[in-house]
Amino acid sequence: MSRSGDREVRGADRVRSVSPHDPSDVVGEWPESSGKDVEAAVTAARRILPAWRRAPAPERAALLEAAARRLEGAAEEVAELTVREVGKPLTEARAEVARTVAILRYYAQAALDPEGQTLPAADGRSWLLARRRPRGVVALITPWNFPLAIPAWKLAPALAWGNVAILKPAPEATACALRLASCLELPPGVLQVLPGGAGTGRMLPGHPGIDAVSFTGSVAVGRAVAGAAAAAGQAVQAEMGGQNPVIVLPDADPERAAEPIAQAAMAFAGQKCTATRRVIVVGPADRFREALVEAVRALPVGDPRREETVVGPVISEGSRGRVLEAVEQARAEGGRVLTGGGIPPEAGWYVAPTLVEGVGERARLAAEEVFGPVCAVLPARDVDHAVRLANGTRYGLVAAVHTDDLALAMEVADRLEAGMVRVNAPTTGVDFHAPFGGVKASGFGPREQGRAADEFYRVSTTITLSPGG
Ligand code: NAD
Repeated sequence: MSRSGDREVRGADRVRSVSPHDPSDVVGEWPESSGKDVEAAVTAARRILPAWRRAPAPERAALLEAAARRLEGAAEEVAELTVREVGKPLTEARAEVARTVAILRYYAQAALDPEGQTLPAADGRSWLLARRRPRGVVALITPWNFPLAIPAWKLAPALAWGNVAILKPAPEATACALRLASCLELPPGVLQVLPGGAGTGRMLPGHPGIDAVSFTGSVAVGRAVAGAAAAAGQAVQAEMGGQNPVIVLPDADPERAAEPIAQAAMAFAGQKCTATRRVIVVGPADRFREALVEAVRALPVGDPRREETVVGPVISEGSRGRVLEAVEQARAEGGRVLTGGGIPPEAGWYVAPTLVEGVGERARLAAEEVFGPVCAVLPARDVDHAVRLANGTRYGLVAAVHTDDLALAMEVADRLEAGMVRVNAPTTGVDFHAPFGGVKASGFGPREQGRAADEFYRVSTTITLSPGG
């Protein structure tokens, strides 16, 4: 068995994805892409690159628009596949399909964006152009938790702006990646999917036939990928984990703040990079703590196929083990479990939504990303203390503050070390057309999403056109 954690890479050369709700349900099994497959993919990509980058932009736009229409037409089927393969609750899975359609449409239009700038030339006669051109062959390495949206927000800008793409999806989400790719009817070699785990992924950064690597996943893997790519002179971006704080200031209405915070911490079993992991309560915490516990207990847990479910299973048995172990460690270190802490009766890989208080800021639950429905509640003496706690981890993806005091909200927002700051809004649910990414250990390289993606998927060439003489 080849292992990447407890990933679903089984046997010497098979990738298997199973439903986290019903682990006896095998969603699919594929040969793991070998070194030979990687070579073949890179060769095919390089062969088609010159034609694709010269294809008229309206053609590329039309192909992405057609893909959006195909996905839209299959929305319910693809949402159900997402529920089955990664355990994402149906309502959220539907929203992810809709978001993916929107991403494809958005980049279909972006294909027609200006290709650069014209600048005044020093000699007053020449034309000086900064022309945006595609990077070339880009490798996209993606996680399982947004099995459609993340591959889409990488491949759509890549293709729109004339790159060709090799997608290495997470093994746990292989069926979703293949289904998404099937919506893109493109010339052979323009978009290739390589099913596989860490072994396949490792072959891409640093490969001499690849020009750029875009990664989303954990910090440890992201750093290895960024290191290997940079050492080979490849452009690289890596979006990684978070340990996202929300600060609740004393003037915030406890009931109004508690509900969105509970959702942001626990929906999809806390398996979002933007999930709230730490709730920092300034001043007397009793009323807010009560409201939060109540809001978490009210979240419907169970079968992700049901529309009303908010908290489904975690992705794997190993993942469940890691979450429970972190809770046990917190207990052993003096933490108090306010709610949850155990395993609900469902057959799949479920963990009850869990709130823990009384852990120190250096405790694992407070300092490190535990990818599941678990969240630490931390008291803060005052605003300065809260900001220090919020900024006190190595992560910096997203942070939020709840208050009715606009001046204070602005001050705190300005002091938070995070790529994204939300005021009176959940840490989750960032708009698809706005720049997305973290600071510190959470992000490396240019931002993703929206027009910000141009910084990564194109590079400018400065061209001087002189009349001569
Ligand atoms: P992961 O890091 O284990 O895997 C991500 C991808 O990298 C997978 O495709 C995996 O097969 C591949 N991979 C594993 N080892 C590799 C190696 N040595 N070289 C190359 N590729 C390798 O992450 P995951 O468990 O799939 O996803 C969960 C993590 O992703 C969490 O940490 C979460 O916070 C993070 N995440 C971040 C964002 C973001 O935009 N910041 C979004 C979603 C998820």
